[in-house]
Amino acid sequence: MKVAIAGAAGRMGRALLEAAAGDREVSVVCAFDAAAGADLKIVSDPAAVAQADVVLDFTRPEGTLALLRHAKAMVIGTTGFTEEDRGCIAEAAKRIPIVMAANFAVGVNTVYKLAETAARILGEAYDVEILEAHHRHKVDAPSGTALQLGEIIAAALKKKDFVFGRKGMLGERQPRQIGFHAIRGGDIVGEHTVIFAGAGERVEVTVRSQSRATYANGALRAAKWLHGRPPALYAMSDVLGL
Ligand code: NAD
Repeated sequence: MKVAIAGAAGRMGRALLEAAAGDREVSVVCAFDAAAGADLKIVSDPAAVAQADVVLDFTRPEGTLALLRHAKAMVIGTTGFTEEDRGCIAEAAKRIPIVMAANFAVGVNTVYKLAETAARILGEAYDVEILEAHHRHKVDAPSGTALQLGEIIAAALKKKDFVFGRKGMLGERQPRQIGFHAIRGGDIVGEHTVIFAGAGERVEVTVRSQSRATYANGALRAAKWLHGRPPALYAMSDVLGL
């Protein structure tokens, strides 16, 4: 399978180039980035990605939108889209197959399912708190993955009162709450724990991402799954058969 890597000069692009180099089933026919680099044969014309079966995109929203016109199929890992951008992606998915996910790590997607199952079994009697930890350069909090976990659990429990951190005399914890807590420091790649705290026991589901290779490997898995599928907007849960 021929792949193009968009955002090739970035952190994820480099992780993808490394993952693809170790994968016999894929060959990189195009490394694309708005910023050309001397050490890589990077092209800056989005039309160049047309030669690939699947484009792996980890750029910025404007980069993704420009590539949609040229790609035969696309794995979108870029985040930060507006509602209007999402509309453009949904429109493009009528012509080409697209897998889009805010987190391509297979372990994280497994934890989505485990947390949903735990919420269904444990139900209202267990208080839910979500902890996440990331490196000091991360600008947003809580992480998109923590919010996604919260949404999944809220849907399973049919309750949604998100609380972001706690301080001061707030009174007792209300059962409808789902609490979020963010830790920032050093070079932590990404950690998420969901705590289900009941009377007499506590269940914790944790995933720790130790390197960006986990996102790159998940994105490559999505690209292989996508190749030859009919046009539609797919999620990572489709790729993993969840
Ligand atoms: P980065 O800043 O290191 O790399 C982004 C690259 O894209 C840069 O080299 C930049 O020159 C290039 N770029 C920017 N605008 C462009 C455009 N218009 N056209 C072409 N190239 C453009 O960032 P990163 O850490 O590699 O992350 C990239 C994106 O992927 C972010 O949106 C991030 O949130 C997302 N991300 C997603 C996952 C996931 O699993 N879905 C995992 C990690 C990062």
